[in-house]
Amino acid sequence: MAEAEPLVAPQIEEYERRIADLRAANEGLRDAIAQIAAFQRLSNVISTTLEHEKIVGLLLDLTSEIVEYRRCVLLLYDAASNVFRADIGRNTDPAWLEDIRSEEEEGILAWVLAKGTPAILPNLRGEGGGSLLVPLSVGGQGVGVLYLATAYGGSDYVAQHFEMLSLLANQAAAAILNARLMKSAEAFGQFLHNCLDSMQDGVFVLSGGDRLSVLNRQARSMLGLPDAVREGASLSEALPETLVQQLEPQIVDTVVGGQPTVRECEIPVGGRSLPLLVTLTSLHNPEGRRDGFIGVLRDLTQTRELAQLRELDEVKNEFVSNVSHELRTPLTSIKAYTETLLDSVGADDVETRREFLSIINEECDRLTRLIGDLLSLSRIQRGKLEFHMAEHDLLALARRVMDACAVDAPRHRLTLSAPDSLPPMRFDADKMSQVFYNLVGNAIKYSPAGGKVEVEIVPREDGIEVVVADEGIGLAPHDLEKVFDKFYRVNSTSTATIGGTGLGLSITRFIVEAHGGRIWAESELGKGSRFRFVLPLAGARAGGR
Ligand code: ADP
Repeated sequence: MAEAEPLVAPQIEEYERRIADLRAANEGLRDAIAQIAAFQRLSNVISTTLEHEKIVGLLLDLTSEIVEYRRCVLLLYDAASNVFRADIGRNTDPAWLEDIRSEEEEGILAWVLAKGTPAILPNLRGEGGGSLLVPLSVGGQGVGVLYLATAYGGSDYVAQHFEMLSLLANQAAAAILNARLMKSAEAFGQFLHNCLDSMQDGVFVLSGGDRLSVLNRQARSMLGLPDAVREGASLSEALPETLVQQLEPQIVDTVVGGQPTVRECEIPVGGRSLPLLVTLTSLHNPEGRRDGFIGVLRDLTQTRELAQLRELDEVKNEFVSNVSHELRTPLTSIKAYTETLLDSVGADDVETRREFLSIINEECDRLTRLIGDLLSLSRIQRGKLEFHMAEHDLLALARRVMDACAVDAPRHRLTLSAPDSLPPMRFDADKMSQVFYNLVGNAIKYSPAGGKVEVEIVPREDGIEVVVADEGIGLAPHDLEKVFDKFYRVNSTSTATIGGTGLGLSITRFIVEAHGGRIWAESELGKGSRFRFVLPLAGARAGGR
């Protein structure tokens, strides 16, 4: 092996220079790797952080790794008011910020932002070095300017610094915009939430595979739902079972038909029945495909109560007018016959006097019966209707009432069929007369064309049945159910001219039931009616309810 020639001094110097260069390049490389790692960190933050403070904090930290600064501040640009507002900074002081404000007024910040590349200004406060202004913008949208006070002069900056800072600033701008978007999306979401919670109606939305995605406060309180019911629950987990059952056909109609559907339902909530008007509307996703539905629940309690009050008011007015009419008719007749008796019928015309006096007498009986009904109603309502039970002859009572009624019904044929004798019965005779007067009176009154009025008394196993049948105007099925209700009068052309108060049958039912009996009616419109009641043989169990 040949012996190596010893190095001469110039060669050694050359090698040493090269080694130093390599070392410097190595350090530069290490710095570059450190900066790339720093960017990596910011990129991670951009993709994971939506907090403005964190983003800006990191921007300032990373900037200090690229350029040493004495103080710095991020000036955010508000496009709506065209002003820059100082945001987060390091080592800021009011005087420095005031200097920046005057630069803003001169349009320097806007100029840097519009230019889109960093700019160097001489330091305003005679500290030496210069100010470095780095614009933050993304996709042409100006976000702000990062303002740094550094110790360097203009020539100390290398192009590499500017490039790094611009890159960093743009990343931060994107992150700040994202955070802003997120914040405004959150604020809008909260706003919608508040709107829904402020609504009078209950609202629920089912979407994304029939999962509850909205349930407003009103729906929760209306349906008495526990706090455990949360978004994400299925319909049957979220809403009361009775409501879900009633809504199922409506949901099918809405989802299949695609049209809004409205339905009234009634569900038990907190020990009472809640009337609801439910509107379902199908929900579409942005691609136009159906994706669940929106339910709106309206509590009908108040609407119904109001309607009932209005109806009650109408019934009251009608009742007052009916009673006034019923009082005036016999009174007019009494007055007319009395005047004629006084003025025109001679003392010796005994027959006419007797006829007129008996008419007056009948009208007085009519008045007495009407007032009796009114008194009975008021006593029933106060729970004060008393019964004086004793043994009486029902057959004799029926005959008496029919004879009295016959006087008033020349066009009717009144018949009574009954066995020769009936088992002994106990009842309140006055009240039972009231029952017969009401039923026979109605049979006559509601057969304006006349006809047969038959009273039949039939002993049955469980008591005595009384049937009052007529050939009159009859009753439609829906009226048949209601004629025993207080104040109820059939409203039709055939009843329009027939007077009454709507009290008779309700009092009649009360009296029969108070005697332990029951009453019902059978009828067909235009074909007459049969009112039937059964009294128990013992006739016991009487007394006010
Ligand atoms: P009203 O004083 O109006 O006769 P009621 O309580 O006795 O009051 O009867 C209630 C309603 O029932 C009447 O207004 C009438 O429309 C109907 N009604 C009662 N009895 C008969 C009958 N025999 N035939 C047809 N309708 C009747």
